Amino acid sequence: MEEPAEPIPWLRNKDLAYYGPFRDNVKAFIKNETEADDFYVEGGILGHTVTLAKGTKYEANMRVYEETMLDSSRVHCDCCRCIGWHHHPVTRKQYHFIIHTDFRADLKPELKGKRICQICTAAMPAKDKVCASCGENDGETSILDYQTHLMHGMLHANGCGHLMRINGREAGSRVLSGQQLIQIWEKVCNLLRAREVSVEDVSQKYGVEFRLLNPVACGKTWYGTFGYQFGKGSFGNTAATHRKAAELLRNFPLADVVHDFKNMRPTRANSSNNLLELKAETESQGGSLHSGDDETLEVIARYEVLMGRHAPRTLGGLVALLLRLQRIVRRNDKAEKELLLRSQRESKERGEGGDEGADAKARRREEEREAAAKRKAGTSEALFEPLAFQHHSKRPKRVGYKRGDDGVNGVESPTSPQQRRVMSSAKPRALPSRPLRPRGADGLVPATESPFKAEPAPNPRHLAASIRPQVKRELDLDPTQPKKLASREGKKQAKPSTSAPGSTKMGSSKAFDVEVNTSRWSDARIETASNHCVEVLREHGGKYMPRQEVRALARAKGVGDTGLLDHVLKNISERRVILTKTAPKAEKGATQRASIKRRQNASTGQLEYMLESVPGMSKMVASVVISAGASGGKKTSSPAPPSKKSGADKVLIKSEPAQQQQQRRTTHVKPETVKRPGLTGEQNAMEEAARQLTRDDLDRDIKLVYKSVLEHYKPARPRPGRPPSKDGKGAKSKVRGADLVAAARVLLDTKQFVKTYVPVESLLTLRPPPPRGPDGQGKGGRPPMLAKGLRVLVTAVIDAKNKGPKVSGMDVSAKGGRRKHGVETKPPPEVVLLPPDPLLSDLKLAVNKCFQDLYVVLAKFKVSYAVGFESTKDATKLGAKKIGGARVEVHGDGADLESEFRYQGGLDQWVVRCVCGTCDDDGERMICCDACEVWMHTRCVSIADSQGTPRKWTCADCENKGKVSSGGGGGGGGGGGGN
Ligand SMILES: [Zn+2]
Ligand SMILES: [Zn+2]
Ligand SMILES: [Zn+2]
Ligand SMILES: [Zn+2]
Repeated sequence: MEEPAEPIPWLRNKDLAYYGPFRDNVKAFIKNETEADDFYVEGGILGHTVTLAKGTKYEANMRVYEETMLDSSRVHCDCCRCIGWHHHPVTRKQYHFIIHTDFRADLKPELKGKRICQICTAAMPAKDKVCASCGENDGETSILDYQTHLMHGMLHANGCGHLMRINGREAGSRVLSGQQLIQIWEKVCNLLRAREVSVEDVSQKYGVEFRLLNPVACGKTWYGTFGYQFGKGSFGNTAATHRKAAELLRNFPLADVVHDFKNMRPTRANSSNNLLELKAETESQGGSLHSGDDETLEVIARYEVLMGRHAPRTLGGLVALLLRLQRIVRRNDKAEKELLLRSQRESKERGEGGDEGADAKARRREEEREAAAKRKAGTSEALFEPLAFQHHSKRPKRVGYKRGDDGVNGVESPTSPQQRRVMSSAKPRALPSRPLRPRGADGLVPATESPFKAEPAPNPRHLAASIRPQVKRELDLDPTQPKKLASREGKKQAKPSTSAPGSTKMGSSKAFDVEVNTSRWSDARIETASNHCVEVLREHGGKYMPRQEVRALARAKGVGDTGLLDHVLKNISERRVILTKTAPKAEKGATQRASIKRRQNASTGQLEYMLESVPGMSKMVASVVISAGASGGKKTSSPAPPSKKSGADKVLIKSEPAQQQQQRRTTHVKPETVKRPGLTGEQNAMEEAARQLTRDDLDRDIKLVYKSVLEHYKPARPRPGRPPSKDGKGAKSKVRGADLVAAARVLLDTKQFVKTYVPVESLLTLRPPPPRGPDGQGKGGRPPMLAKGLRVLVTAVIDAKNKGPKVSGMDVSAKGGRRKHGVETKPPPEVVLLPPDPLLSDLKLAVNKCFQDLYVVLAKFKVSYAVGFESTKDATKLGAKKIGGARVEVHGDGADLESEFRYQGGLDQWVVRCVCGTCDDDGERMICCDACEVWMHTRCVSIADSQGTPRKWTCADCENKGKVSSGGGGGGGGGGGGN
């Protein structure tokens, strides 16, 4: 099923290998493999370049930015704090591995005179300095904070690091895919022997969070497929709860989902009490007042029908299927786009002008209308979609930036003016200080079409929202439409099917009133597109033509909307075609009838179309007949999928009775589906299903399943207008999927993932391979690693007197439910290299140098003694056998313990102790109790993310103790933000 893997761009010297600790390897790498340049220079940053896959189609420049922290405008590391490495001292250097975006505005006609803001990725006038969207001047922002990098990974000199972002093709990468990019990162980490790398999975698309979707589909996050494991869960989640939650959702039977949704009491759209959610829901349904229940059932039924005996049985199976189909459809689209480009090139070479004129004008008009519709829907054009695999919405740091400075939602505490109430570190994710990209008024990211399409296609949702309610009216009243075209569904003219209980397996069979055109396109557009398609077929002269080619050539004729073409091609084979002679001679046979044949090519699996051959057809013009009588007797052979637009066009659609759908499908699928060699039955079924669907269909269905089933299981939501106490409880007990709500919450609350590349202990035994060949050259082992050197793992106690600042959550030895907030006195252990027969002084020297080089605060660090060697003289030989591979603890002085470089997490002390069990800053939004100064999650004390924080607030404990006579209510209800 997986597409053939694309090669991973990499260094020319594939055998290059390093055998030392990261801090040495990275220096050797930069020295030997990269070229220093001043391509980009910024305070404290040195740039180097290495070209990957030189001379191939995948050639890419990887930049290595060496950042010297003492000279840098930033000090602390947000990512370290979020994953729980806040106690690491700040390293002297950190290394950024970046592949810059290859996006080029000059390739986009719609971006003429514009450029992309590097911070929020919105389009802006090229000469503007400050972006209107985010208010930032990206020219003054560090290149290390750009959101547009295709790949950005950072490693602190001690080998711990963070994968900051991967922006694959969907986010604008022209050449490299997300898979390729993350595998380049894998190669960097493995080559240089990175220790541990964290990633924050906040990748999403139109509000669909992949960290929920992916574990349901395949048990892992996207990063999980590359070995990134549960790192740290917010709100007290653990690896075990995370795994369990994923399993519960994945294995939940679809039959139970159907049961629950069927037994839901019909509601209006406001099935949620949450206003935001309600808005989002209404939005997602194109503003219709229809409940999502039936839609969910319809989606399940649709894929049951499409997949036949390979239909998914579990929720996980359904989600996995949707994601796979989406990939297949996108792959097909891409192939088609290439075909289109080729044919355009060819026609240019032939010097053909193409049919400009009326078509182009119509298209432009259409585009303008779409743009207007989008504007009306309140969304700005997001021209760059970075969120496919986007990571970490960080604010660029500047000199003097301290957490708390940005005061999102922050209210000055009257007692301690310095301290903000909301940990800015825990910037509420719901209200990022900087929108990553323009959001709709409802806070949802607008579901724009991929902005990198050659031609804009209408956004189904916005089109739907703006046009759908008017479609009928337009059709009835619009005088510019010369004739009414009855679409296939219209002709079918299903009698109002009273949905029999038995048929609901297929989804709700709702009959709406007589409709004309159930698609989202006007009749005129359908006709134009159909005519273009048959013209393409006519020009091909009675030979079968692959569907993709028809589609591509029709696009070349000026039909910009691929969704429309898909729609047309699905129905076209049942249309009659009239061929008219171009020379207007009123002779006999001036018009001829013809029909369109469709088949599936047995070897390629592709659908192919042919226009019946008619004498003299090369000099004729083909047009389709869409009148009611034309296809009278062809109902059962119709190959069109059932109620394809049901989700998006709910208001107008009528779906056929289930049995009829089934019947049609079987009559169509059976004779035509020919197994492709090498594919399993399931794969064949999937390929076939993918051909019946557009990417819009899949985007919509994925979103619907996400919103109604995964994110918040709809049948378990409280009914509006009913007290949730009695009725709610009773209803809940009958809901089979009631537990799914909590499970989804766990997955959503787990954002930190971590991968261990090389456990530091394993460096003890790592040896370069012995030299090969007569020249004595090792295959890849390089200095500074000596095959004969000894390796020792050293733990350095840098703060023997234990006077350093406290770090919250450091000490996990819980006593009586209370945790001590301890002092971290040791940076992570390091492997040091010793000469073959070392003296104690050699060990001390090596350790001094190692830690002095690594950490800013240890610049003057000196080992005073090594545990176990207290009475040994410096000049004593330690004995190679005894010391090689040993673990040694050393104590030393000279650490600058008051420096802000002491901890990656900064010097601030936070006492975190939340009701959910969290004792540590987990990056979530928190609030501090005025009385005991303990921080807790706002969510855990019932302050919604959308809510401001109250000016005064005391925790329930303090409230009960009566420490505070008055205050803002323990439950923290209202509060109403504002500063
Ligand atoms: Zn870090
Ligand atoms: Zn911006
Ligand atoms: Zn909590
Ligand atoms: Zn308190």
